[in-house]
Amino acid sequence: MHTLRMPQSKTHLSAVAIDKAYLKGAHRIPVLRGVDVSVAAGEFISIVGQSGSGKSTLMHLLGLLDAPDMGEVRLNGDRIDNLPARVRDDLRNNVFGFVFQFYHLLPELTLVENVLAPLMIRHGVFSYWGKKNAFLEQAQEILDRVGLGHRLHHRPSELSGGEMQRAAIARALMNQPEVLLADEPTGNLDSHTGGEILDLLCSLNEDEGLTIIMVTHDDYIAQQSQRIVRLTEGRIQELEEAA
Ligand code: ADP
Ligand code: MG
Repeated sequence: MHTLRMPQSKTHLSAVAIDKAYLKGAHRIPVLRGVDVSVAAGEFISIVGQSGSGKSTLMHLLGLLDAPDMGEVRLNGDRIDNLPARVRDDLRNNVFGFVFQFYHLLPELTLVENVLAPLMIRHGVFSYWGKKNAFLEQAQEILDRVGLGHRLHHRPSELSGGEMQRAAIARALMNQPEVLLADEPTGNLDSHTGGEILDLLCSLNEDEGLTIIMVTHDDYIAQQSQRIVRLTEGRIQELEEAA
């Protein structure tokens, strides 16, 4: 006899009872105080909150760029924040892609070189050269995908802010991440250009199924994601359905 089972949505990434404090001299400044947040595979979630509320801190913990004082980060149910450094490095490279407010492109490299640079570092020069043509093709494809197919050999100084952020997104996509962590990706852009970057993120989420966790202090930008989580006084205070 069959038992009916509800379809189980596989939780992709979660933070469970996370505490994080920073030391300032002899003072311990609590930033996150019991944060719980769950992001399902394929979701596009925004983390909003005032400046200093701990959004970037939470993002860094989720992406294994930093470790919590208490609590756990879990990927598909398995704890990942306490794994050996080597394994965390691998997860960071293979599972997560990062996009920041200030692009962090290398000014002396062209766009296509900027997109390829992490692969060169990751694979080592020898192995990289063996696969260079395949990587180059992949970089061109991804730069095309983000609307920069005509800018491959430009340097960052020759690009607009929106184009630089597109390039940073392309770089993050090179490792084919499962989860994109974007910290204030529109924070340095005018509202029109910011809207275009949001459109790109939405299409990567909808068409490519990319899971996206975006930090923003801009409620209007957040409204365009599927779900909004608000950080207040070190806790997740409310969950809202975006419009
Ligand atoms: P948000 O991204 O929401 O603006 P952050 O997560 O960057 O907030 O910072 C939260 C709080 O933690 C702030 O008060 C900030 O000054 C402090 N903080 C962040 N990073 C550090 C650090 N590395 N050392 C000490 N304090 C920090
Ligand atoms: Mg921040």
